[in-house]
Amino acid sequence: SGFRASRNTSRPASVSFEFFPPKTPAMEETLWASIKRLEPLSPAFVSVTYGAGGTTRERTHTTVKRIVDETPLRPAAHLTCVSATKGEVDDVIRSYLDAGVRHIVALRGDPAGGLGTRYEPHPEGYASTPALIEGIRAIGDFEVSVAAYPEKHPESDSFAVDIDVLRQKVDAGATRAITQFFFDNDVYFRYLDKVRGAGINIPVVPGILPVQNFRQTAAFAERTGAHVPAWLAHRFDGLDDDAETRRLIAAAVAAEQVFDLVDRGVTDIHFYTMNRADLVYAICHLLGLRPPATIQQATA
Ligand code: FAD
Repeated sequence: SGFRASRNTSRPASVSFEFFPPKTPAMEETLWASIKRLEPLSPAFVSVTYGAGGTTRERTHTTVKRIVDETPLRPAAHLTCVSATKGEVDDVIRSYLDAGVRHIVALRGDPAGGLGTRYEPHPEGYASTPALIEGIRAIGDFEVSVAAYPEKHPESDSFAVDIDVLRQKVDAGATRAITQFFFDNDVYFRYLDKVRGAGINIPVVPGILPVQNFRQTAAFAERTGAHVPAWLAHRFDGLDDDAETRRLIAAAVAAEQVFDLVDRGVTDIHFYTMNRADLVYAICHLLGLRPPATIQQATA
């Protein structure tokens, strides 16, 4: 099993953490406590999402800027094409350049009418993710990451279309893909085979979602097209009123998933933190990641 095989040596070579911009002062406090808690684990980068329809433009920028100013972390700013002219999007890109940010997660974004409605590009906006990536690259020397979907994008009829879109994103300059969350690692490896089979060689970093709340996650998974296996539901069965045990199970489940990925050759892991440090910190600890001071003590 994954646990047994990885007890000795295997650990991810690099981790990254995703946050969302806070809506209230209380949420901002939680976020910053989480960033400070996770900072000593030296993530390769931390990313900050962009609200649906560009609703968090200011808050995303403020959060990313504060990460630059107050931490040694390398932030990646998410950016979408939705509901904005090219000029407006370019202004956002330039403001990141000025702030010292060098990594953007380039996305199309969800339809302005919400999931399930048809995506219509803004008439004066970037029409697609590859177009946005070209826009970013024309403005500055940014590293560009993009999204990938091991279970297909919900709008997509076939993997072939999805993988062709991924190829277009790579051709436009993307150097890393981060996946939508998934729970069945075989799904990820089958997808990776398809991507490699299509001659796409950029890292496809698994996005791991620790299940803080099973019901919420199941509802969210339904919208994003991620399959929730019966065994996962079974693990959380009967715990609806027991948040404490749910959290312990969540750490164990996510650590087990990552151990198995690492055993099967994955080197980089991206965590959807939901702005909470505790689970992700515990999972990283299980995976053998330590703050630098602890490593020195342990080997002294
Ligand atoms: P793309 O990869 O460009 O396209 C998605 C799909 O649309 C394709 O796979 C294909 O099925 C179809 N498609 C696109 N172009 C064509 C074409 N030319 N011909 C035929 N079909 C086509 N959303 C936010 O609003 N803010 C965020 O910060 C954010 N961060 C995310 C981070 C990650 C890691 C992931 C996985 C998703 C994130 N999303 C975010 C969600 C994302 O915006 C939605 O999934 C959106 O619907 C698609 O965006 P995309 O960049 O993946 O689109």
